[in-house]
Amino acid sequence: MASRLVSIVVALVLTLGAAAGTFAQGSPDATPETAPAPDASPAVVGTTEFGPVPAGAVGPAIPSSGYLVEEIAGGLYWVTEGFYQSIFLTTGEGVILVDAPPSIGPNLAAAIADVTEEPVTHMVYTHHHADHIGGAAQFAGATIVAHEDTADLLVRSDDPNRPLPTVTFADSYTLTVGTQTLELTYPGNNHEPGNIIVHAPAQRVLMVIDIVSPGWVPFPDLAVAEDVPGFVALHDTILAYDFKTFVGGHLTRLGTREDVETSRAYIQDIQTNAAMALQTVDLAAIAAEVGYDNPWALFDVYLDAVAQTCADATILVWEDRLGGTDIFTFSHCWVMSESLRID
Ligand SMILES: [Zn+2]
Repeated sequence: MASRLVSIVVALVLTLGAAAGTFAQGSPDATPETAPAPDASPAVVGTTEFGPVPAGAVGPAIPSSGYLVEEIAGGLYWVTEGFYQSIFLTTGEGVILVDAPPSIGPNLAAAIADVTEEPVTHMVYTHHHADHIGGAAQFAGATIVAHEDTADLLVRSDDPNRPLPTVTFADSYTLTVGTQTLELTYPGNNHEPGNIIVHAPAQRVLMVIDIVSPGWVPFPDLAVAEDVPGFVALHDTILAYDFKTFVGGHLTRLGTREDVETSRAYIQDIQTNAAMALQTVDLAAIAAEVGYDNPWALFDVYLDAVAQTCADATILVWEDRLGGTDIFTFSHCWVMSESLRID
C-alpha cells in the first residue's frame, strides 16, 4: 500500500533528521526517540527470523486514502495511518485536536473535514516530541494547550513545525470548548518531562502517549522512557481512571483497560526477570573470561548477559501474547536492569 509506505518513509526521515540535528548542535542530550537500542541479534528483513504477529496485535485495515478516521464516542474521533494516532473532538464551536503526527500530515485536516465543517480552534500537545506534534503548524492560529515543561522543551527545539503553546499549566487543566471537555493532568516525569494524561470523561476515553501500545510491546528501551520508575508507575495511574477506550499514540489499534493491564503485567515480568538476572549472572565468571584491562568490555559483556537472561525468561511467556516481544524485549530488559541498578 503506497500511502502507508510513504508514511513509514516520512517517519524515518523525521527520525534521521532529528538525529542529525542533535549531533550538529553538539547537544549532549540524545534525541529521545532515536537513541540506539542495545541489540541482541541482527535483524534480517525479508526472512522468517521474526516471530509471527499475534492476532490481538492486528488493527483495522487502513483505507486507500492512507488514513482511517472513526468516531469512538460522543463526537470524539481517532485518526491513524496505521502507526501513529491522534484524536479530535467536535464541540459545536470548533474542533479540539490532540497531537498532530507528521506521518499523518495533511491527511489529518482531510480526516477532520470528512466529519465536520468546524475549524480547528484548539490543540493539545501530549508532549513535545516531533513525531507526535510535528504536523501542528498546519493548524496555525489555534489555541495550543500543553504542560509547562513541554513549552520549555519546545523553546529549546526551536522548530517551526511545532508552534509554541499559548496556554500552559503545571498540574492540571480543564479544557472546555462548546459542549466538550478534556481533563489534562500531569503525573510527573515518565516518557519525558511534560508527558500528560488526556481524559475525556463523557466519552470514557483516556489518551496517554508512548507508554502502552495496545497489542504490542513498547518501542525499544521502554519506549525510550527518560524516567523508568515514572514510566512503570504510570501504568497504575492510568488504571485508576474511569475509561473504556485507551489511545496510546501507537500502533495498529485502539485499546481497552485489559490492554493496559496486559502491558502492565509484561512490564512487571520485565522488572522481576531483570532483578533475577542481576542476582544470577556471575560477574566474576565473566571477568575471568574477559579480564579487567578493558572495563568497558567487561561491562558490555556483563550487562548484555543480564539483559539476555531477563529476555529469555520473558520471551518464553510473552511471545504469543504481544507483538514484537521477540524483537524488543532484550532492549526493555537492558534498560530495566540499568534502572534497577542505579535509580
Ligand atoms: Zn514521545
